[in-house]
Amino acid sequence: MTKSAFPTLPTFDSVEEERLHRKQRLAASFRLFAKYGFDEGVAGHITARDPERTDHFWVNPFAMHFGQISVSDLLLVNHKGEVVEGERPVNEAAFVIHSQIHAARPDVNAAAHSHSLYGKAWSSLGRLLDPLTQDACSFYDDHALFDDYTGVVLDLEEGKRIAHALDDNKAVILRNHGLLTTGQSVDEAAWWFIAMERCCHAQLLAEAAGTPISIDKDNAELTARQVGSHLGGWLSFQPLYELIVREQPDLLD
Ligand SMILES: [Zn+2]
Repeated sequence: MTKSAFPTLPTFDSVEEERLHRKQRLAASFRLFAKYGFDEGVAGHITARDPERTDHFWVNPFAMHFGQISVSDLLLVNHKGEVVEGERPVNEAAFVIHSQIHAARPDVNAAAHSHSLYGKAWSSLGRLLDPLTQDACSFYDDHALFDDYTGVVLDLEEGKRIAHALDDNKAVILRNHGLLTTGQSVDEAAWWFIAMERCCHAQLLAEAAGTPISIDKDNAELTARQVGSHLGGWLSFQPLYELIVREQPDLLD
């Protein structure tokens, strides 16, 4: 039997190569978010830190459907919220929230947020997710609640408060709003978003049907280490990336 190559984290020979890689992963993430139905009008954004100008990030153009975004459509935004590459405007909320998260967390190279259905339904309960399933353990003791809602986030101070609530976790539930996830890679941030949305769905279903049994603390902590690592999040995204590039190769344009 021949041994097949196990996927490993990419390495880069130049910053240009790394930038292109991040942009390709970002465009693919938008296509996947559209496929999963995470779009809601003009809401939602995923950002990737530029590998060279590290206080700049790549983001989707305002009012462009996730399902139509290609690499060449992505905007580069500086720390003042100015578009320095790209033709279209940036969503102000995207800048206000994501700039503060990228500033507060140098380890976070990507962040994802959308108004996905089960995430926003769950967010209205003002509760953290319970470790009800193996998959939910990815978020055990690794997500926070932003327990406030004061309208559309257009104020940098509120972006700072969200970053503060996120603290050193991988995700934060924005009450009455939706989910926000982060990662060391775009792959990881996008995967945690998909996974967290499904955990919200699963917990809503389980609680609607009865009284779910939580995984005990020791096993939830063990499982979190097994499935919730940076590498684990990155790995889970790889089959989705291959699928979406095969289905929609124009995303790389
Ligand atoms: Zn939002």
